[in-house]
Amino acid sequence: MAVNTAAYKNIMQELAVKNATLVAVSKTKPAEDIQALYDAGQRDFGENYVQELVDKQAQLPKDIRWHFIGHLQSNKVKYIVPFVHLIHGVDSLKLLLEINKQSTKINRTTNCLLQVHIAQEETKFGFDKNELDALTEQLVAKSIDTSHVHIQGLMGMASFTENRQQVTKEFSYLQSLFADMANKLQNTGHRFNTLSMGMSADYAIALEHGSNMVRVGSLLFGERNYHK
Ligand SMILES: *Cc1c(COP(=O)(O)O)cnc(C)c1O
Repeated sequence: MAVNTAAYKNIMQELAVKNATLVAVSKTKPAEDIQALYDAGQRDFGENYVQELVDKQAQLPKDIRWHFIGHLQSNKVKYIVPFVHLIHGVDSLKLLLEINKQSTKINRTTNCLLQVHIAQEETKFGFDKNELDALTEQLVAKSIDTSHVHIQGLMGMASFTENRQQVTKEFSYLQSLFADMANKLQNTGHRFNTLSMGMSADYAIALEHGSNMVRVGSLLFGERNYHK
């Protein structure tokens, strides 16, 4: 499956107007496809699986900014902190503290987004509002060690549905949580400025609701085949 460079150019134009960043989601796609989009100018790529990310990072150009967008297990943090640009799916305090610990060991600061559960489905990971509020209080009080993590925003996934009203509702909810938290974290040193929401099917709605980072895969790389 060839990379859709026409779709790439279109989406880059839409994002430029909004000052938003494209994360090209390349999970399950071969290194050649990533290289093709790299050659067209793309530098931010997103992967969901640790081993796949580590393998691709070793093969591909070193100036790629790798985003980890999947569910990250604590015992795998150490494999990606040496090079990862941004971890989108931080969904527990335990994981955040492990990222801080592994980053401290190698004297690096790791950029993180907190994943918030906004969808109706049970299966999507993330903090709920109460958990997010509790963590915000700890960050403001500096009662937990976040010396080697930079919490730069929130990430969310809307329900998998054709119902645009539902998706709109979920994205605007996340937008309000983001604004509230940005306000509370103002004096903590965490430059809270990134709202990662929107995928191939719903990125246009996300952009209408304050998203400044979209994660788009199939629109650029074609449908994924998980069975090969
Ligand atoms: C796979 C994935 C995407 C991209 O999905 P598309 O529908 O292919 O654009 C975005 N975000 C996350 C977290 C994903 O797992």
